[in-house]
Amino acid sequence: PLDKDELGRHTWGFLHTMAANYPEQPSEQQQRDMKDMMHLFSKFYPCNYCAEDLRETMKKYEPQTGSQEDFSQWMCKMHNIVNVKLGKPEFDCGLVNQRWRDGWKD
Ligand code: FAD
Repeated sequence: PLDKDELGRHTWGFLHTMAANYPEQPSEQQQRDMKDMMHLFSKFYPCNYCAEDLRETMKKYEPQTGSQEDFSQWMCKMHNIVNVKLGKPEFDCGLVNQRWRDGWKD
């Protein structure tokens, strides 16, 4: 079985990669679907207290699905909220597309 940290690393990889590949100009339907996806995700993420906190956070910060930029930045913020809760450093969200889409610039 995956432990909580392995599950978290793999899941963040999936979520940020999904955000990196989200459309630049999503249709209304795509926007609704991605909001639904995140709400449903937050009901089934297989770490109960993690999922509970995520649902609380998402009440305050609704998923931003207007564009690739909006959605990637929103995901970065969600991850940073968890980072802070766990005492980890915050990630610079200006670098999110380099980390998860384009690769690092030298
Ligand atoms: P991770 O936090 O898993 O990050 C993986 C990589 O993502 C990092 O190496 C970095 O390159 C990159 N990264 C870091 N921050 C960002 C960011 N803000 N934006 C973009 N990229 C970034 N664990 C708990 O103990 N308690 C919880 O309540 C909890 N809730 C979670 C909720 C969710 C939705 C998820 C997916 C995971 C949760 N976890 C929780 C797990 C936790 O977030 C970490 O995944 C785990 O602690 C392993 O951390 P890590 O240091 O290996 O890197």
